[in-house]
Amino acid sequence: MAKRISAGARTARPESSTDSDLVTATLALLLPDEPVPVRLMNTIWADRYGVYDALETVGNLRAWLAAVQPGQDEPAPDGGDLARFRDLRDALRRLAAHITDDARPRAASAMTDPGQAVAEVNRAAAQAPAWPQLAYQNGRLRLTLSGQATSAQRALSSIARDSMGLMTGDTRVDLRACPAPGCVLYFVKDHPRREWCSTACGNRARAARHYDRHHRTPADV
Ligand SMILES: [Zn+2]
Repeated sequence: MAKRISAGARTARPESSTDSDLVTATLALLLPDEPVPVRLMNTIWADRYGVYDALETVGNLRAWLAAVQPGQDEPAPDGGDLARFRDLRDALRRLAAHITDDARPRAASAMTDPGQAVAEVNRAAAQAPAWPQLAYQNGRLRLTLSGQATSAQRALSSIARDSMGLMTGDTRVDLRACPAPGCVLYFVKDHPRREWCSTACGNRARAARHYDRHHRTPADV
């Protein structure tokens, strides 16, 4: 289960801002090359002190949306949007755990039933019919989504639909649960030699292996 970000945890992370929105925006830039549905999964993150939820407030959601879909955050999301994004996030983490045989206790989704997770993804996908639109800005072409729903609702549906493509059919990706000690993130294995979500996790995992080899006691796990 995700715990709230405590003041103590923030104090223990001197590189982090004490402003939760800024922390969220920073975290949204972690693993920026992952598909957006995976980035939504990774709003549950962890460090050595605990597991955190980066989507706890409407401000968190707005910062996250601004980071993953720049220029599409009007009107601002509301409490209902936050609840729907959290439900979709938990559903995607449940399905990701299923796909990746993820046994990491710290990474377990708040949504335990795969059937409920499937229903939640379907509900989100159907919420906001939208269609792609080209935009021409500053001499460059950009893809946007148009539709009757709000920007946040369209983003939610778009992420749900994208997640279906990542999990099934010809566009299915090789989703992995990062096996580094304590990590709760997911990533797409886009290179045969990629084992970890990040270089930092790879370094920590190698250090842990080295420590295990040289300090082999029952307490060292
Ligand atoms: Zn990792």
